[in-house]
Amino acid sequence: MKRFGRDGRFMQDALGAFDHKQLIHFFDKIGVDTHAPDGYRVFPTSHSSITIIKALADEMNHLGVDILCGEKVEEIFIEASKIKGLKTQNNTFNCSNIVLATGGLGYPVLGAEGDGHSIVDKLGHKVTDLHPAMMPLKTKRLG
Ligand SMILES: Cc1cc2nc3c(=O)[nH]c(=O)nc-3n(C[C@H](O)[C@H](O)[C@H](O)COP(=O)(O)OP(=O)(O)OC[C@H]3O[C@@H](n4cnc5c(N)ncnc54)[C@H](O)[C@@H]3O)c2cc1C
Repeated sequence: MKRFGRDGRFMQDALGAFDHKQLIHFFDKIGVDTHAPDGYRVFPTSHSSITIIKALADEMNHLGVDILCGEKVEEIFIEASKIKGLKTQNNTFNCSNIVLATGGLGYPVLGAEGDGHSIVDKLGHKVTDLHPAMMPLKTKRLG
């Protein structure tokens, strides 16, 4: 967290509940060997994202998770401060818990277009101004 300065505090609860050691252990358990060649960033030893995707898909299958693609979430229903369900383009689902993980605005063509921000904004959450956190830099070779 220290590497992210003051903003690092934001991660405290999440890392307290599930830190990098637990994450490495989890991947080990579902068959993914990892290593940290530079002592900081952790990679699958295969250095292929397919290893991660396949292991997670197999684990979800093992746990009986239904994966519904092409279900764009449009609205979350809340009654008396309790989550009641959500509406997608095609369906309505009843549920009492939601993990909202709709991504940032870094690369909209990959699917994340900021929907999560407008969904929670409508529910009364404060959404701060959004700024790019990663961008390409073009440099000019001199001489
Ligand atoms: C070019 C590029 C290179 C990167 N390289 C690296 C790297 O090397 N290492 C690294 O650690 N990170 C890298 N990152 C950053 C990393 O990709 C992101 O931090 C990470 O993907 C964020 O994960 P996420 O689950 O929060 O969001 P996302 O991966 O953006 O996932 C959000 C998902 O929500 C879905 N979604 C959005 N709105 C809705 C809706 N209304 N209903 C239903 N689904 C919806 C989207 O389709 C998407 O599948 C890179 C990012 C970019 C753009």
